[in-house]
Amino acid sequence: MIETKIFSGVEVASSVYAELKPRIQKLLKRKITPGLAAILVGEDPSSKLYVQNKSKRFQSLGLYSQIFYLPTSTTFDNIVNKISELNLDHNFHGILVQQPLPKDVDLGEILESINPKKDVDGFHPENMGLLASGINHFIPCTPKGIIRIFKHYKIQTSGKNTVIIGRSNIVGRPLSLLLSSKSSFGNSTVTICHSKTKDLASITKQADILIASVGVPNLIKGNMIKEDSIIIDVGITRVNDNSKKGYSLIGDVDIKSVMGIANAVTPVPGGVGPMTIAMLVENTIEAAEWYGDSVKEKS
Ligand code: NAD
Repeated sequence: MIETKIFSGVEVASSVYAELKPRIQKLLKRKITPGLAAILVGEDPSSKLYVQNKSKRFQSLGLYSQIFYLPTSTTFDNIVNKISELNLDHNFHGILVQQPLPKDVDLGEILESINPKKDVDGFHPENMGLLASGINHFIPCTPKGIIRIFKHYKIQTSGKNTVIIGRSNIVGRPLSLLLSSKSSFGNSTVTICHSKTKDLASITKQADILIASVGVPNLIKGNMIKEDSIIIDVGITRVNDNSKKGYSLIGDVDIKSVMGIANAVTPVPGGVGPMTIAMLVENTIEAAEWYGDSVKEKS
């Protein structure tokens, strides 16, 4: 029986923060405090919690962060006006719009209105296009965080069969581009599965590396995975229960059933989630460094 390892996103994230410390100090010496503006539209409790957690992390690192709360009834123009204002505000080097947005708001146009140099989530079509061309500007935080987990735990992706479940623009699609790219963290043979995939288990059983980003609690069971594989669980679903909080966060992987079969698995919570925040911090620091360099060039 295999002794399945737990890949801790908390551990990897703390090593990222330690690496970022000297870069933060250098910026602060130049009187630049990396700043993040987060726009939250509506009252979704999970979205609120995610944005607040991001903001808290920025503050704990001595960085600047402000959340702009807009009501559900807010218009498309109001959101774009807010973004235009933030695009010109030198206190903010990064801007993010928390998803999901209300259904009648065109997400594509909202993302396009963000200055690509402040697009720390990496969702602007220009940054997505660069990623697809093999040029990395801002890499979306969750895929970037997963690659950092591989680097930290010395997981080779080259030549591996990697199966990604989920084809979203924020996880599955960019991750498939990165892992199939000709690079030190790529060279995988990538298969993407989605809601129309037939016989999911027959595909997941071939995976040396399996990444689930679906949002269906405990979808992946032990009998669907290959022995000795690496399992990355991106899914987070809030399921109501009798606990003190009134709910639990459940991943896409039934972790108990993969223990003893998988080589390693990321837990939920404490796996990919903390890495997404760590990569948001890293991208914002990069944006602040670019800003600092552009000001220097002009002076
Ligand atoms: P999404 O919610 O936009 O879409 C879900 C995807 O799963 C779709 O591509 C769909 O085709 C596929 N799918 C649905 N049912 C399926 C099934 N039965 N079999 C195979 N594929 C199926 O995707 P998302 O935005 O990547 O989010 C997925 C999950 O990951 C959610 O739970 C979300 O909360 C979580 N998430 C976590 C983080 C993090 O930092 N940990 C970041 C982003 C998303």
